[in-house]
Amino acid sequence: MMKTKGYAAFTCDTPLAPFSFERRAPRENDIVMEILYCGVCHSDLHWAHNDWGWTSYPVAPGHEIVGRVIETGNAVTRYKVGGAVAVGCMVDSCQSCDQCRKGLEQLCREGNTGTYGGRDRITGEPTQGGYSKYLVVREEFALRVPEGLDLSRAAPLLCAGITTYSPLRTWNVGPGSRVGVVGLGGLGHMAVKLAAGMGAEVTVLSRHQGKEADALALGAARLLVSTDAAAMAKAASGFDLIIDTVPVKHDLNLYLPLLDVDGTLVLVGQIGPVAEPSTVPLILGRRRITGSPIGGIAETQEMLDFCARKNILPECEMINIQDINTAFERMDRADVRYRFVIDMASLDA
Ligand code: NAP
Ligand code: ZN
Repeated sequence: MMKTKGYAAFTCDTPLAPFSFERRAPRENDIVMEILYCGVCHSDLHWAHNDWGWTSYPVAPGHEIVGRVIETGNAVTRYKVGGAVAVGCMVDSCQSCDQCRKGLEQLCREGNTGTYGGRDRITGEPTQGGYSKYLVVREEFALRVPEGLDLSRAAPLLCAGITTYSPLRTWNVGPGSRVGVVGLGGLGHMAVKLAAGMGAEVTVLSRHQGKEADALALGAARLLVSTDAAAMAKAASGFDLIIDTVPVKHDLNLYLPLLDVDGTLVLVGQIGPVAEPSTVPLILGRRRITGSPIGGIAETQEMLDFCARKNILPECEMINIQDINTAFERMDRADVRYRFVIDMASLDA
């Protein structure tokens, strides 16, 4: 066992606070990593606040994790001490069902093991995330950070990056695709960069005209203000794919008419009820609503390699772990441009 310090939520309505806990003793196929940076995802906030009703406390959030290998088990073949390594939202899965065999561990028939809030598949102990000093993970769930990718900015790729890359790939986005992105936050800004990087024409659908300059700088062709009814009506039937990152209950009827025939609205944000969608635009326009969870390990590696090749990196605001509660409050009011990243060296301060 290895003593680790970190920050955790202890109840749904108290601030995150320092937390000391034990990481499991490394097994033969495990690596031990020292965490250098961890991104702050809106899911961390949902989890800490028990928005989904399934949180067990205490929980150290964090699933956008970048660091260095400090120890390897005897059977580890892919990683060496000193190498850069990353971990996203999963640390294990059954590895034998049809989905795992296809590289879709996020859809494991037994359920994947979350980086935090899960249960170790061997000991049953709760998993804890990246708001901490060290992490122990089986090598199959670690990712290679490609040469040249700035470690201090790479962390958000491990969730915001893959969660938007995966639907772009699933629905075959490429040159000529017309992609809409609802909500310009952590996931949204990565969706813009990645879709633009694939050659798509990207439109941001935001509540705020004030984000227009940012949207264009990120690679979008335009920003549509979702509350501007006339502009929204003019944009009808203009999209092949819309990625909706809104984190709360909201009205999909605003976005469905924007899809072209056979167009797809992919929900990646709100987990839970949405306002009653009308079937009229679905039936009359043969449009689809679907969802998408993170991405598999192979696809996550593909995304990291794509970002390194295209020099695509998140826009990060570096914080100390002691500022995490202020970061949560700012994220709650959509005051983040566009991802907080914790410099884990601050844990020792
Ligand atoms: P974020 O950085 O807070 O961004 C969310 C954006 O949504 C905001 O910037 C805002 O954009 C818009 N928004 C916020 N409140 C809204 C409201 N009341 N009505 C309409 N739009 C609103 O959050 P994130 O980290 O990108 O995460 C977004 C959601 O994705 C969260 O619910 C998170 O749990 C979920 N998530 C899902 C997966 C998955 O696997 N599917 C993975 C990671 C995260 P504008 O100001 O531009 O309108
Ligand atoms: Zn996340």
